[in-house]
Amino acid sequence: MADNIISYIEMCAREGTNLQAGMNFGLGGTHSVILLSLRPNAPYHDRIEDGGFTLIYEGHDHPKNRMCANPKAVDQPEFFPSGRPTQNGRFYKAATETKDGKLPPERVRAYEKIKPGIWSYNGMFHLIDSWRERGDGRSVFKFRLEAVEGEEDLAMPTSASPVRRRIIPTSVKLAVWKRDAGRCVQCGATDELHFDHDLPWSKGGTSISIDNVQLLCMRHNLKKSAKII
Ligand SMILES: [Zn+2]
Repeated sequence: MADNIISYIEMCAREGTNLQAGMNFGLGGTHSVILLSLRPNAPYHDRIEDGGFTLIYEGHDHPKNRMCANPKAVDQPEFFPSGRPTQNGRFYKAATETKDGKLPPERVRAYEKIKPGIWSYNGMFHLIDSWRERGDGRSVFKFRLEAVEGEEDLAMPTSASPVRRRIIPTSVKLAVWKRDAGRCVQCGATDELHFDHDLPWSKGGTSISIDNVQLLCMRHNLKKSAKII
């Protein structure tokens, strides 16, 4: 579930592939996977908008190679020299077809690195728009992803009216992980951890403040949910 903490190996096992690249379109033909880098010194300028409901994900640069010594100085490519679409091109095409009403939104699962080998699952998103933006003398791709509640059955068509979900910013996750020393605040467990909203959204809680987010193990998370309901 969203905001769970998992190991790199668990993440790859879940997605059935060795995740190396940041953008992975159409895994298994059912959904896509992106790896986020929202940290202050991150190489891409991903951002959260719309009060936390929307993620704006930046496309990927030209690989650094013989043909391109400085990827930050050239436009992000839509196609390979062969004419095949890059990952930017594939996500862009899907988003454009959704915007034009031709296809339901591509489902995208996002993960972000908390520390080496430790990742946080950011939950399910719907890819609903994409465009190019100019900045620093070049053009980059942007992708609009709406955070949605729940996991959705990948065998079923994408829901046209999903329940929207708020994202916990990476800066908050990193600060909470550090404060709680990577342990459940109730019992000190270091496995099956989850970033928990102390006061849930439905009761007026916020995820923007680290004061309202804590680390809980699955057992204490379930105990707490039972109490709230
Ligand atoms: Zn616990």
